[in-house]
Amino acid sequence: MSLRVIFLGPPGAGKGTQAEELAREWGVPHVATGDMLREAARRRTPLGLEAKRFMDTGVLVPDEVVIGLVGERLAEPDASRGAVLDGFPRTVAQAEALDRLLRERGTALDRVVFFDVSRGELLRRLTGRRVCRGCGATYHVVSAPPRVAGVCDRCQGALEQRVDDGEAAVATRLDVYATQTTPLLDYYRTRSVLSEIRGEGTVEDVAAAIRSAVGHGVAS
Ligand code: ADP
Ligand code: ADP
Ligand code: ZN
Repeated sequence: MSLRVIFLGPPGAGKGTQAEELAREWGVPHVATGDMLREAARRRTPLGLEAKRFMDTGVLVPDEVVIGLVGERLAEPDASRGAVLDGFPRTVAQAEALDRLLRERGTALDRVVFFDVSRGELLRRLTGRRVCRGCGATYHVVSAPPRVAGVCDRCQGALEQRVDDGEAAVATRLDVYATQTTPLLDYYRTRSVLSEIRGEGTVEDVAAAIRSAVGHGVAS
């Protein structure tokens, strides 16, 4: 059994929330380029420090940097049966590089799931998002609050707002998404792997829509 799925959608659409749960359910790793880049920035590696300059203002990190990261990650043993890709690809150049990478391994994408969420709801989700400084867990002040305000349920770490969830960076990210990432909808539609799901509703409603788009993740 293997499963190679992309979660595609604007910032704040709920990709990370869904990928975390469903990757576990499907027994494949959750590969999130944003998380990988933030972790590299936290460890102050040269790559992380370079990436942070782009991320904090809301623009994309250069293609060759993320393509390199994903190539290395997918070569690890736990990804041999697939992965849920969250936040990658984000440009046509990245999608082409991913196609090459999969072809070299004799594999292919099973499905690209596009999360359809209105702009108003994206803004509500992004401005209310809080993340744990310790373990990276994601919360929302209204829709998914922690048990104790400002404190992570899992590790007791302090919750904070991402720098790029501030007003200026959010506006940039939505523009960057519209110009650089939306061409991927046609890219994958043409290849007949695109499923559009309604990204609004409860976390469980959205998960159910994704399971049905992916065929319960039992592709072979
Ligand atoms: P979002 O909430 O917008 O989905 P992510 O955590 O996926 O945020 O990404 C945060 C930032 O990391 C992006 O704004 C961008 O600077 C960088 N990043 C993440 N993935 C990629 C990618 N595939 N290509 C280029 N930059 C990326
Ligand atoms: P992305 O990875 O696409 O940027 P996240 O998964 O981080 O998005 O979700 C963005 C914010 O919206 C988070 O604060 C999360 O708790 C919240 N969220 C996620 N899914 C839902 C949902 N179905 N309904 C309401 N809020 C949600
Ligand atoms: Zn935590």
